[in-house]
Order: sequence, then C-alpha cells, then structure tokens
Amino acid sequence: MFYKVFEDIYLVGGTDLSGPADCCVYLLNLKPCLLIDSGLGKVPERILDNINEAGVNISEIKYLLLTHCHIDHIGGAPEFRKRLGLKIAAHEKDADAITNADRTLTAADWYNINPSPADVDIVLRGERGIIGDISGLSWIHTPGHTPGSVVFVYETGGRKILFGQDIHGPLSDGFRSDRRDYKNSLKKLIELNADILCEGHYGVIKGREKVRSFIEQFI
Ligand SMILES: [Zn+2]
Ligand SMILES: [Zn+2]
Repeated sequence: MFYKVFEDIYLVGGTDLSGPADCCVYLLNLKPCLLIDSGLGKVPERILDNINEAGVNISEIKYLLLTHCHIDHIGGAPEFRKRLGLKIAAHEKDADAITNADRTLTAADWYNINPSPADVDIVLRGERGIIGDISGLSWIHTPGHTPGSVVFVYETGGRKILFGQDIHGPLSDGFRSDRRDYKNSLKKLIELNADILCEGHYGVIKGREKVRSFIEQFI
C-alpha cells in the first residue's frame, strides 16, 4: 500500500501502511530516487514492497535522508543501507546518537528495543544546504525536538513541499530538546509558506493555510 502525495512523491511507510510504530516514510522518485526517514525497522520489507507497488525499482534508491535521530525514523536505516547500498545523510548534531545507537537519545528506551548503529555517510553541517546535485531539494537545520533536527524542502513546478517530520514534538530533556530553539524553528517553517507539509506522524497536509495553522498550533 502507498499513497501518492504529489507527482513523483509517495508515502510508503507509516502506521497504516507498514507498521504501527513506523514514522511516515516518504519516497521521492527523483534523479536519483531517495527516501526520507526509514521507520522503526521491524518491518522494512513492507516498506520495500510498498515502494515496488508505487512502481519504483528499489535498486534505484541512492539516498536515505534522516530528519533526526529517533528510532521510529532511523530504525530501518542499517537494513536499507545493507540491502540497497544507499548513502545515509543526517545532521552533525544528531549523527553521534545514530552512529553510537544511543538508547536514550534515539528514544529506543521508549520503544523498549535495542537500536542498531547506522553509519552516517553524509554529515549535514551548518544551517542549510543541498544534497548532492539533486535539483530543487534542500535542507534546513530546525533544532528543538532534537539538536540535529532538519527539514527537507522540495520545490517543483512552483510548488513547495516541506518534509517536516516531528513538527509536533514532543520535547524532552532525554532528547536534548530545547523549547526556545523549537519555537524559533517553527517560525522559520511558517515563513517557508509551503504548499504541502509531509509530517512524521500526522501524514500529509495540503494547502498553504492548513500547513500554516498546523505548525502554528505548536508555537
Ligand atoms: Zn522524534
Ligand atoms: Zn517521530
């Protein structure tokens, strides 16, 4: 099962599509193909089946972009890296938690599972940047929920699609959350004026006004 978000963008994982504890997993069928987040890692084959169903050959997926270090987003990363030979990208401020498989920082304690360490091939440094030479795709550092949270923005045909993932939080000392950073990041996201928001657990929100009010409720 999958859900078509817009043009070559698909929702291929999440509570209803793969496993109950999986975050939303998005597939961008660009040149090259890439995934944004990877789910908890208990049912990676279901996500791969959904990608196939969406008509994409899994061997074409070259990148896995991680929005932050939490296990419901990174759990599938080691398996996808091994099976697909893709490169994993994450922000420098969350990369340590991912490579060390830190139980507290990855929130694995909450899920009572042992995280597997994942190599981060591409470390995103600073406040914003691009991924390889993929046209229209950029990332922005949005700390708060975790220190190394990022969002990805894809612009196509005059539309702006925001992959915001855990916009809703929560904030916790165990995650190294920072309320002031979180609020500033949410304001930054509102200013983007995105047409579509692809969220980590709430799914897809369409329409500029709806996107704005969704983000605003958490400030
Ligand atoms: Zn999270
Ligand atoms: Zn999450």
